[in-house]
Amino acid sequence: MAITWNESKVERIEYLAAHVKRFVIRSSGVTFKAGQFITLDLPIGEKRLQRWRSYSIASAPSDGASLELCIVQSASGLGTRYLFEEVQVGSVLKWKGPEGTFILPADTGKALVMVCTGTGIAPFRSMLREIRIKNMSYKSVHLIFGTRTEADILFREELEQLTREWSSFRYDIVLSKDPDWGGYSGHVHQVYQECYSEVSSEVVFLLCGWRSMVDQAVDNLIGMGYERSQVLFELYG
Ligand SMILES: Cc1cc2nc3c(=O)[nH]c(=O)nc-3n(C[C@H](O)[C@H](O)[C@H](O)COP(=O)(O)OP(=O)(O)OC[C@H]3O[C@@H](n4cnc5c(N)ncnc54)[C@H](O)[C@@H]3O)c2cc1C
Repeated sequence: MAITWNESKVERIEYLAAHVKRFVIRSSGVTFKAGQFITLDLPIGEKRLQRWRSYSIASAPSDGASLELCIVQSASGLGTRYLFEEVQVGSVLKWKGPEGTFILPADTGKALVMVCTGTGIAPFRSMLREIRIKNMSYKSVHLIFGTRTEADILFREELEQLTREWSSFRYDIVLSKDPDWGGYSGHVHQVYQECYSEVSSEVVFLLCGWRSMVDQAVDNLIGMGYERSQVLFELYG
């Protein structure tokens, strides 16, 4: 089947942290589910697989006619070098999608535990906004976000505001390289291991980020006694 490609202008670009940018693109009314991603076709190679890079949508479906992407610059990555160095406001990006099955569980009676590192927060920001906008009644939502230092925390103000407005939302930040941090230090794993050691069929874990974190979390949760069906994940690579 022929792929339908969209071409969208970049409306806004801003730094969210030292190596992370938010790209806002015009979406011309495309519909999607919170948690899904789009795939950019970047002019960085001859073969299509050399050119395609996927990015989770960080805005909510109900946010309007723009899509937000939250992208970290990879030290040696071709795709992110192009995005960070060549793409400007007004540039046109070619993309397909949205696609993906990493979406909110249909059963709103569940307690959601979202575990992510770095830009793995993108689909969760979309989901959290959607839950609030649509007034969805999940039993509780716990976001566990890991990064290196306090300066690398993404969407902090917005998420802290959410904890003040939403009594069943818990937000934990875990920093791996910030000795002055007063909260959790180390890795995200310790937080869910501590909070969910008592296995419950009511909990659904959603994991997003790079393979090292996601693989470890899946192994840990299965080892703790959770069913495979209670662990959903999106792998960035
Ligand atoms: C479904 C999906 C959704 C994604 N959503 C996002 C998103 O919202 N935001 C985002 O920043 N990225 C996201 N990614 C990753 C993204 O598609 C690219 O792989 C990433 O931007 C690196 O591209 P690159 O061309 O710069 O590096 P490449 O040249 O493709 O990568 C170089 C190598 O480094 C690894 N790598 C690159 N960056 C990192 C990193 N930060 N940590 C660990 N390993 C890394 C890659 O796996 C690869 O092996 C997603 C990937 C998938 C599959």
